[in-house]
Amino acid sequence: MVAIREVIPYKMDIKLSEPFSISFGTYTYAHGSFVVIRTTDDIEGYGEGCPDKLITGDNQEESLIFLKRASKYLKGAQINEEEVHRILDRVERELFPSQTARAAIDMAVYDILGKLENKPIYKLLGASEPNEAPAALTIGLRSIEETRKKAEYYMDRFRKNGLRRIKLKLSGHRESDVQRVSAVLDIFPGEITLDANQGYKDPKMAIKSLEEIYAISGKRVILIEEPVPKGRLDMLKQVTESSPIPVFADESAATLEDAKRIAETGSAAGINIKLQKAGGIYYARKISQVAKENGLKLMVGCNEETTVAISAALNFVASDPAIMDSDLDSDLTVANIQITKEDPLDYFKNGIRYPTGKPGLGISLKEWLKDVLNGRIEIKRPG
Ligand SMILES: [Mg+2]
Repeated sequence: MVAIREVIPYKMDIKLSEPFSISFGTYTYAHGSFVVIRTTDDIEGYGEGCPDKLITGDNQEESLIFLKRASKYLKGAQINEEEVHRILDRVERELFPSQTARAAIDMAVYDILGKLENKPIYKLLGASEPNEAPAALTIGLRSIEETRKKAEYYMDRFRKNGLRRIKLKLSGHRESDVQRVSAVLDIFPGEITLDANQGYKDPKMAIKSLEEIYAISGKRVILIEEPVPKGRLDMLKQVTESSPIPVFADESAATLEDAKRIAETGSAAGINIKLQKAGGIYYARKISQVAKENGLKLMVGCNEETTVAISAALNFVASDPAIMDSDLDSDLTVANIQITKEDPLDYFKNGIRYPTGKPGLGISLKEWLKDVLNGRIEIKRPG
């Protein structure tokens, strides 16, 4: 019987290739974690945690403390996702929740399960062919002119990948938001998704803004995420009921419990699932089930993640035909460091990002990174 021999957590700090702004702040670093799980028969699984207190509820320090405790209890456990999550429930009871630590361990376990069955995770989850949801490339909050320039840059850089969808961050200021969308509609022929990250304090103003955007875009703008403050489901419902553009919950729909509340109250038309909020693929699938039972649409998003965590999300998207938008791009944009041997751009075709199709997550780590993880290279700042 295959069991877990060791779980090794690492602290991972990534300097973003450029500062990334949304309505509530600017990011320059992604402070996260990396985890390697080794089995008794020497199979390795990889996972990544990308905490952001405002979105995932935990920070890097909490995530690492959680991983350390989990590594003790997981030693000797079977490679079985339910059993692993039960053990993580115990860690959560003793410490605190850390959805990103949970997600990191979860994806490493699925990586191993796939390698044991010699199947990519999406096939392990029951799909015979990958679900194809167009990938959205995100433009952070910038001036109108810089937004236009960034759209042109993406259109050029991802032309051979068939880019068909761009995501725009909104500020919550009606006039500039409408201008921002208009500037991209003028030059980009594809579809646009929007994300206000709670920027509109007044639901009436959000509705007015969305009506104006709809008047110039029609069906080309396909959704708006989190227009109003997190957790104000009354406001969210108000926007959902009047907006001509479908409203998705993101920050307000972090966990399975949140998703159930959104469904019960009918406060959104869809949910943005992120593995880092949900606690991994195991819980993402449960959220998807709730969405299906309640007629909610689904998209999958990310934080500032590398290709490791993105590969888990790509497999999840590929596994589930209900997912209509794949907002997975951080490893091509802000967290653009190549740590896998596979080049993610080779699997971005006709506007769709595919998992590589190799077993598990479908990735292998570059040798230098394996050398770091195995302790053969030690990298420290001087002084
Ligand atoms: Mg969002």
